[in-house]
Amino acid sequence: MTDPATTASASVRRPHVLILGGTTEARTLAADLADRLPGLRVTTSLAGRVAAPRLPAGEVRIGGFGGPDGLARWLREHAVDALIDATHPFAGTISFNAAQAAATAHVPLLALRRPGWVPEPGDIWHPVASLTEAAEAVRGLGHRIFLTTGRMGLATFAHLTEQWFLVRSVDAPEPPHPPHMEVLLDRGPFTLEGERALLRDHRIDALVTKDSGGAATSPKLTAAREAGVPVVVVRRPAVPEGVPVVEMVEEAVAWLRIRLG
Ligand code: NAP
Repeated sequence: MTDPATTASASVRRPHVLILGGTTEARTLAADLADRLPGLRVTTSLAGRVAAPRLPAGEVRIGGFGGPDGLARWLREHAVDALIDATHPFAGTISFNAAQAAATAHVPLLALRRPGWVPEPGDIWHPVASLTEAAEAVRGLGHRIFLTTGRMGLATFAHLTEQWFLVRSVDAPEPPHPPHMEVLLDRGPFTLEGERALLRDHRIDALVTKDSGGAATSPKLTAAREAGVPVVVVRRPAVPEGVPVVEMVEEAVAWLRIRLG
């Protein structure tokens, strides 16, 4: 059987790139590499959190590696030449693991992070450092809260019995969660018109979001600004020290060209 890391006609090994994915940017990068650097072998890794994920171009593997040691082992066993951490800005554990594993396995690592959002005139933002702080902040911001921080962090709001929550997530949340809530199963991109309607129809007093960045989910910020609705914005965790960061898919492609010749 032919080793997938070698071409069929010759025993020239194709450079292998592992993308840690789960984001739009990771999918765009995999598609761009398939188009523009067809000599590369590209594997995208997904955590397996979403029941029916949007699959990227190229090879895909799903599920955790078993911590930084497991990831380092995977990099060695699959002869990975470069690692791109294109995970969500709030996926802090896997980014930390990637930094450690890349150092152990001597594989060059680049982080691809879309830029964060920047407040505009008219925004009423309450920046906080964590979901715990966000749960504290919403206590003083009204009774009807639109929660867009994902189902995984919902337990942090479970003790808030006085408020009603509109919870938007890709898959249905499991307990613990706030006692008074309505779940909206949906995934971006979202439209400004749709976000305006949600704020209006549900008489939303405050919105909670992570500073995820990107255009797909930013219309809620515009709708909140227009409606004078305050927004609790959870700040991003830092990228692990020493890991180079780019913001654009284009820059990641350029980095790979230089790294892999
Ligand atoms: P996390 O807390 O940083 O990671 C927890 C564990 O999940 C990791 O230790 C790792 O398990 C596994 N994992 C995470 N990303 C992986 C990947 N791409 N491939 C293989 N294993 C992965 O991550 P999270 O916040 O739960 O997010 C999980 C995934 O969802 C990420 O890939 C991220 O890009 C995507 N996502 C996250 C958010 C968010 O707000 N956090 C939003 C949208 C999409 P092992 O230690 O066993 O390797």
